[in-house]
Amino acid sequence: MTDAATPDAPTVTVKLEYVSAVAIGVNEESGALPASIMACVALIDGAALDPSKVVFVITGDFVESVRSRLPADLRHLYHATRGGGIVGGKTMGVGHGVHVIVPSFCFEDVAEPGFDYAERDKLVQRMVLHEAQHVTMLQAREDGALTRAGEGEARWNFLACADSVISEYRAEAGVPVSHRPELFSWSPDEVLMQLRSDLGRIATVEYQSHLDVRKFAYDVVTEAQTAWKLLGNIVAARVVGGIAADAAFGADVEASVEWKLMGAPHWRQFAAILAGVPSSEVRIAADDLSAARNLLADLFDEWLVTLGFKWSDADQTFRVISWRLYE
Ligand SMILES: [Zn+2]
Repeated sequence: MTDAATPDAPTVTVKLEYVSAVAIGVNEESGALPASIMACVALIDGAALDPSKVVFVITGDFVESVRSRLPADLRHLYHATRGGGIVGGKTMGVGHGVHVIVPSFCFEDVAEPGFDYAERDKLVQRMVLHEAQHVTMLQAREDGALTRAGEGEARWNFLACADSVISEYRAEAGVPVSHRPELFSWSPDEVLMQLRSDLGRIATVEYQSHLDVRKFAYDVVTEAQTAWKLLGNIVAARVVGGIAADAAFGADVEASVEWKLMGAPHWRQFAAILAGVPSSEVRIAADDLSAARNLLADLFDEWLVTLGFKWSDADQTFRVISWRLYE
């Protein structure tokens, strides 16, 4: 019995990549992890259905650590995380296990007088708690299970997009008010202004230089997906905060051109679909999940038209159908 774990001991494994133990505050003599890391381990431990199959990876090279866990043919597609200014982590199914990957700077010393470590720890824990929700869903096999079943390219992309937006929404909806610093509440018009600028660049500059229609379609949907995820976070924040998902935004949002032309036409339906999906804390039947995914994929198809693009499986084309947002 001497080597038995104590009953309360976390069973999540911590693994370091491209970073020294000393750099993230591991005690050189005892090997003990600092409190900031232990707090994250406890959060994952609490959310995991089987903590013994979870690895918490702290890495000095985030992109490399993610790439090395992707299938070889997808590695080149992964570049850096988008996070709307938030510290980013990533949760991935690896074999029979789940790996939660976070950058080592979350725990490193900062050469800045008066740096607020307590504030950073709060933000890091909020991010890790979000990732821990992905662990729950992956281990419940509610996430990462989508497989292509003969859909055309466009439909498949809308479904994959819907799957990932639902997963993000459920993870965010699983982060309680107590772990949500108000610092990061997005405004929908800001999300859409960024999207408008990104799509404009892709359509008027990037595509004109490479003329690869498939890449054009992929780039447009990738940017739209980033925006839809952020908008889904807004729905989640409202649901968690007890505000009606489709309640009106402030007058400045409602008055913005981007909101009127890009967001408002689809918001009510978008919010209703997501608000109808339970948070990561609640188990959901596969059929219910696929019903929501299909509805959202239909909506994204229509929403893309509102943004000025049509991706069609019928004639296998991707076209700009309106330049009004990008002139
Ligand atoms: Zn996420």
